[in-house]
Amino acid sequence: MLNQNISVDRAINIILSCIKEAEEEKIHFADGLGRYLSRDIISGFSVPFFDNSAMDGFALRAEEIKDASKDNPVKLKIVDEIWAGKIARPLPDSKCCVKIYTGAMIPDGADCVVRQEDVTIEGDYALFFNPVEKGNDIRLKGEEIKENDVVASKGSRITPAMIGLFASLMKKEIYVYKKPKIAILATGSELIDIDEQTGFGKIVNSNSYALMAMAREAGAEAFNGGIIKDNRDELEKAFYTYKDTDLVITTGGVSVGEYDLVKDVFANLGVNWLFWKVRMRPGHPVAFGVYNNRLFFALPGNPVSAMVTFDQFVLPAIKKFFSAPWEKKTIYAIATDDIRKKSGRTHFLRGRAYTKDGELFVDIFPNQASSAITSMTLANCYVILKEDNTRINKGEKVLIELFEN
Ligand code: AMP
Ligand code: MG
Repeated sequence: MLNQNISVDRAINIILSCIKEAEEEKIHFADGLGRYLSRDIISGFSVPFFDNSAMDGFALRAEEIKDASKDNPVKLKIVDEIWAGKIARPLPDSKCCVKIYTGAMIPDGADCVVRQEDVTIEGDYALFFNPVEKGNDIRLKGEEIKENDVVASKGSRITPAMIGLFASLMKKEIYVYKKPKIAILATGSELIDIDEQTGFGKIVNSNSYALMAMAREAGAEAFNGGIIKDNRDELEKAFYTYKDTDLVITTGGVSVGEYDLVKDVFANLGVNWLFWKVRMRPGHPVAFGVYNNRLFFALPGNPVSAMVTFDQFVLPAIKKFFSAPWEKKTIYAIATDDIRKKSGRTHFLRGRAYTKDGELFVDIFPNQASSAITSMTLANCYVILKEDNTRINKGEKVLIELFEN
């Protein structure tokens, strides 16, 4: 059923209700940066694997130095030296200690480490001037991670730190979601590509490139489906070429003009449009539909409208393929100017947020035209005015959504 003129939240809910988890594949962990885990990662052993020293110093029994003081140091014989990687022999019964290095194994019998800076050496002996607690400067087995702990959960995006963690747990192979394939088709008879001759009446196709980059940044695989003229035959041909892609995005041709054919042509070929027109600005004419478990997004042609609608609608869809939480990173910032708007639509203004004297401010760009791509390149956030929010005065707090990164 075609829902018309709905709210942004309703549109997102409709999209999310159509999406199933992507399939998974096994990859080498070091190739995983930016991919999404399709299974929890569970530790096969404890980290640390054995009790080890957190410092360069001396390992001993805390009991031996419990009465140590500046005036009355305790003197213990140094009976061994344990460097990182060496297997430690047990500590003999009494009046002794071993020299130890960071990361080295704590010998059986020792229960604390005293750092080197607090010890004086006299020949084969070490002098201790202060008592320490049992466990001092020892990293205990399993202190950080226990065997069978979930160290990274399904739906998490893999970061460099996680790759280090997987290495330390010897997780050579990991399961991640396959990247959904996204075809991007620019529609418009006025469009020329970047290597063609420009001229009067021509518009250079920038959407395909911006949206492919956004799709890749989101962890998907993007294809350039090229430029399609505003004519039924060309649109039909494009449909048959790309209909089996996980997600098809068109830009342009989805408004109410006579040459806006995308919705009509695709509907005739079987796409079930679930919504058209969202109460937002820019981006109002956006449409979403399904065909054979494939998703179709018809985004408006203006470069800013295309990017804003991608952010608001395609991004949550991609995240849901990956079982990743969908959360808007919204916070409040102080508006540096008055903002006025009519009620009825949610506005996504482009702004630049910055901190001054510990407070967050946001400037709104004077040129908010949906054709002005520089408003996106210079911006670091959307300034969001909900449907019935008509005025924000200079100095008042306004909702902003920071761009990722
Ligand atoms: P439309 O949504 O087709 O009415 O297009 C709205 C405006 O966006 C028109 O000025 C188009 O020329 C422009 N436009 C459409 N597609 C693109 C594109 N792929 N790249 C840059 N501008 C575009
Ligand atoms: Mg057009």
